[in-house]
Amino acid sequence: MRGMVFDGARRPLRLELRLAPPAPAPGQVLIRVAACGVCRTDLHVVDGELTRPKLPLIPGHEIVGRVAGIGAGVGHWALGDRVGVPWLGWTCGSCRQCRAGHENLCERARFTGYDIDGGYADYAIADARYCFALPAAYDDVAAAPLLCAGLIGYRALRLAGTAERLGLYGFGAAAHIAVQVARHRGQTIFAFTKPGDRAGQDFARSLGAAWAGGSDQLPPEPLDAALIFAPVGALVPAALAATSPGGTVVCAGIHMSAIPAFPYALLWQERLVRSVANLTRQDGEEFLALAPQVPVRTTTVPFPLAEANTALDRLRRGEIEGAAVLVP
Ligand SMILES: [Zn+2]
Ligand SMILES: [Zn+2]
Repeated sequence: MRGMVFDGARRPLRLELRLAPPAPAPGQVLIRVAACGVCRTDLHVVDGELTRPKLPLIPGHEIVGRVAGIGAGVGHWALGDRVGVPWLGWTCGSCRQCRAGHENLCERARFTGYDIDGGYADYAIADARYCFALPAAYDDVAAAPLLCAGLIGYRALRLAGTAERLGLYGFGAAAHIAVQVARHRGQTIFAFTKPGDRAGQDFARSLGAAWAGGSDQLPPEPLDAALIFAPVGALVPAALAATSPGGTVVCAGIHMSAIPAFPYALLWQERLVRSVANLTRQDGEEFLALAPQVPVRTTTVPFPLAEANTALDRLRRGEIEGAAVLVP
């Protein structure tokens, strides 16, 4: 099998050829990878902003594939079943957070493509309990971005509440799905891109945003909530300034540059700033049931597996419309 291997920060991934795919341990499945989404989190790993990956590491946590091997004790998957593997790869089930139903915050959580080898490969191993069945309406490439961009956007939308007027800052893979779900919920969307990114603004409007502009602009109406997908701390005060009293600003990324100091008046009047971390399996079940009803349509840019570095470079430069997906 082939795998794209990460050896350390700011070094390109290296194509490694191995003789045989790994064998699934009890409770695990072996998956023949059909597609794997490229997420901004993968960039934070290869750029060294997330500092504790297992090394060497195969990145990738939006895995779509078919079960090709079954470890002892796995009852609910059969050979050939199509499964999706998300970022949440394992939780302990016994820490305070797990017992409170917050498995996304598990103190001993292990994440796919970070603590566990991921899907930038021909084969991947996953804990069978954390794999999802995928809606049949999506082909393999189209389904991949649902598994992180879609899921995290869904959780962020949920935490932002029932805002009528919703701002989306950063219009990449996550926002291009969130805008469709939010429209389905009857929300009015205001999309913010890098100043001057006309193509990104056109893309946002084409997916149903009522307004699109630069992140240096104020929307035509105040927002009731804002989701920040871009890893730029300066967007926090910008979003607060655009949000009405009582509104929530949700930071949906795993990493963000430092948030600059801002006047208390921006937070005053019960505005709320919060983050979204990871996902629960319940988020996944809910979102994957909802996506075909919307129906969410994903825009993807496929790359051969061996061109993972090119895909990451283009994502870093903001050149991907929708989501990049590796196809082994
Ligand atoms: Zn736990
Ligand atoms: Zn991700």
